[in-house]
Amino acid sequence: MKIAIIGSGYVGLVSGACFADFGHNVVCVDKDPAKIEALTAGRMPIFEPGLDTLVADNVRQGRLSFTTDLAAGVADADAVFIAVGTPSRRGDGFADLSFVFQAARDIAQALTRFTVVVTKSTVPVGTGDEVERIIRESRPAAEVAVVSNPEFLREGAAIADFKRPDRIVIGAEEARAAEVISELYRPLYLNQAPILVTSRRTAELTKYAANAFLATKITFINEMADLCEQVGADVQQVARGIGLDNRIGPKFLHAGPGYGGSCFPKDTLALVKTAQDAGSPVRLVETVVAVNDSRKRAMARKVILACGGSVRGKRIAVLGLTFKPNTDDMRDAPSLAIIAGLQDAGARVVAYDPEGMEQARPLLSGVEYAEDPYSCAEKADALVIVTEWNAFRALDLARLRAVMAAPVLVDLRNVYGAAEATRHGFHYLGVGGRREL
Ligand code: NAD
Repeated sequence: MKIAIIGSGYVGLVSGACFADFGHNVVCVDKDPAKIEALTAGRMPIFEPGLDTLVADNVRQGRLSFTTDLAAGVADADAVFIAVGTPSRRGDGFADLSFVFQAARDIAQALTRFTVVVTKSTVPVGTGDEVERIIRESRPAAEVAVVSNPEFLREGAAIADFKRPDRIVIGAEEARAAEVISELYRPLYLNQAPILVTSRRTAELTKYAANAFLATKITFINEMADLCEQVGADVQQVARGIGLDNRIGPKFLHAGPGYGGSCFPKDTLALVKTAQDAGSPVRLVETVVAVNDSRKRAMARKVILACGGSVRGKRIAVLGLTFKPNTDDMRDAPSLAIIAGLQDAGARVVAYDPEGMEQARPLLSGVEYAEDPYSCAEKADALVIVTEWNAFRALDLARLRAVMAAPVLVDLRNVYGAAEATRHGFHYLGVGGRREL
């Protein structure tokens, strides 16, 4: 089948490369000429493990190509996926749908025959209706069906997630459109990935419900972590104790500095707004948003406390800037709020991240960047682990201790334990009162 993907970012590029790998013919479209130029030259505009080889293989086989020319990409496609960004709108936090609607207008002009237009971007319930209205208004005679097919992949494991999803959700209003999209995913359900065909609105809401639930789970364990610290309990044991219950499950129960990234913060906020507008507020999610917001800044206070109550003039080393490991994505990363909090309190921040420093630079000011964890720690008054990259899991603590000005280790991901850190002379502070016998 022939597919066009509008938007070649984390979702569009990974989906396009994976669909091509299933044997479909895919054109990835982006309005950013620099991105398309890089892709055409074989360079990846984002860091995602395994993506470069997957893209190169499929380009070589002639199944994957890139263009800025949306009309050419869409003209003879069986399905056109909209995978553009839907960031938070400034001011009210509702999803900014201007990229989606612009894509819909552009697609409408380029349609030549029956085409299924699919929103893969995360869009508030009812957006599919509006996309359909926009297309029908500008091309009343166009043969088109608008489908919702939300994406659940995680950055850092995007290819595996796309190829082995827990489920595929297809929200359609007519059977023939659902059939086209089911056919696209056929290689996957041969692998037993369940396909759920729902109404369009149900599919749209399912994506937000999933992200809000996961954000709630993280926030729940983060509050338990704070309580553990106050009452002398260990959050990791609490998490294990509840996670072994099949009704709860062990995932997303790692206490940390609060959720961030390009999805949870904006999607929880957009769900809150949608629900308010619908006269059916989601108070639980409203609270999750508020608790998580205040948590990031609270992590800066934790560091300040570990430094004896003041960081003025002190050098604080930060390991990990991206919102999670194995990505270069800095959108809404907790590190941004933590570093701002430390700088506001007078600290000088030096940071190191294996992949995120390029994207971090325009978002942070006054930060010095190091070349590796050890040079980052040099002469530092405290070392703060913000993102649990594998490269930070087996650091030489003795070597770190030797180059630092003061032996303070604040481990916001509980990578190390107090016993191990203390053995190397560190004053150690983790999250949630972690204890070892
Ligand atoms: P992104 O910012 O990485 O990529 C979006 C791309 O779309 C950009 O390259 C931009 O130049 C391009 N674009 C915007 N308007 C365009 C237009 N009219 N024509 C052509 N190209 C256009 O975004 P992303 O992280 O891939 O997210 C895309 C959508 O998928 C969002 O709605 C997001 O919520 C959702 N999503 C993201 C993830 C994730 O992990 N990143 C996971 C699931 C769902």
